[in-house]
Amino acid sequence: MEYVCPLCNGMTQLHAACSKCGFSLIDGGAVTDYLGPYAPYDLSPEMEQGDPPCTHLLVCTNCGNDSYAIIQNDVI
Ligand SMILES: [Zn+2]
Ligand SMILES: [Zn+2]
Repeated sequence: MEYVCPLCNGMTQLHAACSKCGFSLIDGGAVTDYLGPYAPYDLSPEMEQGDPPCTHLLVCTNCGNDSYAIIQNDVI
């Protein structure tokens, strides 16, 4: 068994609406992709038992509002 982010793996589609205008949000990708190798990365021992949830940037193409969503990993 493996824990993966269903959004990163194309297993599910994002269904979320902008909190400001109600427009459909698009998935801007996993936030770790933006932070890159320079992000502070200090995993506690408890966190090493499983991959941390994937955080995705959600972008509203209508009003430009950005938000984040923590995606729970699915087991495959
Ligand atoms: Zn992801
Ligand atoms: Zn919006």
